[in-house]
Amino acid sequence: MTNPRCTLIGARVQVGAGRLGCDMGPSAYRAAGLAETLSGLGLDIVDAGDLVPGPFVERPHPNGALRHLGAFAAWTETLAEAAHAASAEGIPIFLGGDHSLSAGTLSGLGRRAAEEGRPLFVLWLDAHADFHTLDTTTSGNLHGVPLAYATGRRGFAGYLPAPPAPIHPGHVCLMGTRSLDPAERVAVREAGVLVHDMRTIDEAGVVAPLRDFLGRVAAARGRLHVSLDVDFLDPGIAPGVGTTVPGGATFREAHLIMEMLHDSGLVGSLDLVELNPFLDERGRTAHLMVDLAASLMGRRVLDRPTQSY
Ligand code: MG
Ligand code: MG
Repeated sequence: MTNPRCTLIGARVQVGAGRLGCDMGPSAYRAAGLAETLSGLGLDIVDAGDLVPGPFVERPHPNGALRHLGAFAAWTETLAEAAHAASAEGIPIFLGGDHSLSAGTLSGLGRRAAEEGRPLFVLWLDAHADFHTLDTTTSGNLHGVPLAYATGRRGFAGYLPAPPAPIHPGHVCLMGTRSLDPAERVAVREAGVLVHDMRTIDEAGVVAPLRDFLGRVAAARGRLHVSLDVDFLDPGIAPGVGTTVPGGATFREAHLIMEMLHDSGLVGSLDLVELNPFLDERGRTAHLMVDLAASLMGRRVLDRPTQSY
């Protein structure tokens, strides 16, 4: 029997973020030893290199705040193809890049799940909901829209390719949420997205809410995608991100989530997004994200040499 296969796919997406630097993310994960760490767990690792989006033209939109809409559409198309192809066998891990890349990964994975006759579930670990439409975002930063796009909210037609199999909003679970705009707050509630915000984690911990969600995925024979935004973590342990929000998940909360996800055997794909190496402290955040990916892929004991930051 061969070892489980993992494909690393770099996506140097920068166009969705307000601050420059996310495009260095894939290099930082490689420098922090992601492939070697996962290989050490006995996984068969293939590094597929970095994607390159197709040609595009920028186009006007009534919301004048939007920037890089054409480039975002091109990335979405490229990533959707890559996610669909890579999910045929093994577990693809997408190395961002800002969170707008998940518009593409979710689109391609939704198509894969539909072809398998299974529902796609999404665990969105993030301080934010990323549930804006092109019309409701006031920042104009497109890393705030991927979940709205992938769940089939209106307002993307004519600007982005239609997602072939939109994800049911009730199959999406937000964890760690602590920064929602008013328009998103209403939209998330009306859509029926499951939200375990930081207050829920403070009060109930991570185990019960996550166990409940994983039970639902298993009962539906679902395919599970995990999208991990660096700002899910508390800025005190993960400073390398352009959108820090105080009061995030602790080191152990984050690892426990990853360990439970591994134990569930349900995870089919992973996004690692929003790492900004330009804002990091000597690779500290990159190393933490690599360690979290390792916990998700089966590392059990947190035993490692002390690092000198
Ligand atoms: Mg995000
Ligand atoms: Mg975020």
